[in-house]
Amino acid sequence: MAQEHASLLRKIFGTDFSEYRGDGEGLRMKFMSYALAMRDLYRVYRFIAEQEFPLPIPELPETKVIMPAAMVIGDEQASRAVLQLAHVHGNEPVGLGVMLYGMALSEAGLLKDTKIYAVLGNHSAASYFWEAWKDNPEWPAASRANTRTMIGEEDRMDLNRFLPERATKARENFGVFMDEMLASDNVMLRRGAKLCALVRRPEVGLVFDPHTSRQEPDGIRTINISERQMSLLTKGAFGGLFRGVPEEIRVFPSGLLGKLGQSGEPRITLKELMEAARGENTIPIIGIECGHHENLGDCVPRAASFFNALLYNRGYGALKPRRYDADRGAFHNYIVEGRLGLGWLEGTIHAGDMIYPVQALRQDDILPLLASKQDVAHHFADPLQVIFSKAGRAEIVRIESEAARKEAQGRLAAGEATYLVYQFHEMEEVAKGAVVMVGVPSGAELKTPRDMMMFFPTKSAYVYGNKPGMWPVEAKDADTAAKAKFCYGIFAKEEFNLPLDGSEAAA
Ligand SMILES: [Zn+2]
Repeated sequence: MAQEHASLLRKIFGTDFSEYRGDGEGLRMKFMSYALAMRDLYRVYRFIAEQEFPLPIPELPETKVIMPAAMVIGDEQASRAVLQLAHVHGNEPVGLGVMLYGMALSEAGLLKDTKIYAVLGNHSAASYFWEAWKDNPEWPAASRANTRTMIGEEDRMDLNRFLPERATKARENFGVFMDEMLASDNVMLRRGAKLCALVRRPEVGLVFDPHTSRQEPDGIRTINISERQMSLLTKGAFGGLFRGVPEEIRVFPSGLLGKLGQSGEPRITLKELMEAARGENTIPIIGIECGHHENLGDCVPRAASFFNALLYNRGYGALKPRRYDADRGAFHNYIVEGRLGLGWLEGTIHAGDMIYPVQALRQDDILPLLASKQDVAHHFADPLQVIFSKAGRAEIVRIESEAARKEAQGRLAAGEATYLVYQFHEMEEVAKGAVVMVGVPSGAELKTPRDMMMFFPTKSAYVYGNKPGMWPVEAKDADTAAKAKFCYGIFAKEEFNLPLDGSEAAA
């Protein structure tokens, strides 16, 4: 297997990473400076998709199980192991790049008596993602957004939306849990169970689960862990696990995990399910959001550096992170409130309205340029739309030519209340009292009641399909947070320090 990994690396990087034995810095330079392309990760996908290994379940000695879309990186005989996931969401290929990094470390002898179980999380969704990419590789990432889960029904098919009872079962009687999950006709339940069986192996001492998000160019950058993991980290139980992780991923969206789910029913993530499956024998199970789905030159080096720091701090890897010695362990908590519906905003919702997120424009603002013609033709970007509001009547105008833009600019300058229909960004700050949504045709304004930072803002149905929580919202749905999401909100941030080693947390 090592030979095949070396040859895959050679095909992609044009280099033999065994040449970097004794030169970790050289390996880092080579890997991080190479601009990985989607076709490179497609090679990795093709390679891993046809691998599998047997997965004996000690609690079910009669049951034969294999783990498809999974491989071992490094020395199979190593006494210690790490589970590294890719594609827990189908449209998030970043983890494949991290697998290449693991192979490079292994080639250069920089894994210390440690192997990597490299596994595709949602391998079914990943196959649809890569098929969609192959069909139209030049189309933007948003055109592949519907391959995030197997069939788009998140509650049923998202590896990060298990019922909490599953965790209780996994903790209390793993054999029964496995038996039930393997008997299910739901491919995600079977997959989740197999991942739990793998993570229970005694040699596994770390799980790394990198994710990405849709916002170009940089996405969200956060660390996602359970509350139990957080409390162990602050007590120093995992040593200085995060010492030397990249400066741009130092935010914990605390409280977020308990607030996921579409319907108001609680759901748990794969990471939480795996943690339950480990029982008392807790290991670090670390997820990150590290950038935009397909901006690989940005997200892959960041995810690989993060993984490298985890490996080093656990004693599994020999390559010291950059800025390790200078790290003082400073991190941030962003305290996340759950899903905020339109009803949370100040203002009146008028029957019959369609409600749009907006940016209010001032008289001297310049209307932005049109979205590119090609994107509009492919239906992956909204043409610019503005809302004019006068005497209780609002109209929405699509700006599809330079002449229309000039006319709109004139109406704005002449004093008509004008709003740009607007897609809010992740982590965008909004001041109390800002008009953030407007109803058409009533012109009703909805304002934020507090200063806030937006998290998971409502998305455009034009781009992402007409699912609940997407804009525009029909007034009749506005009082149901599950149907009409404004965003999740962040109202408080705090800085804190994590311990740099196994000792108590610094003040
Ligand atoms: Zn994800």
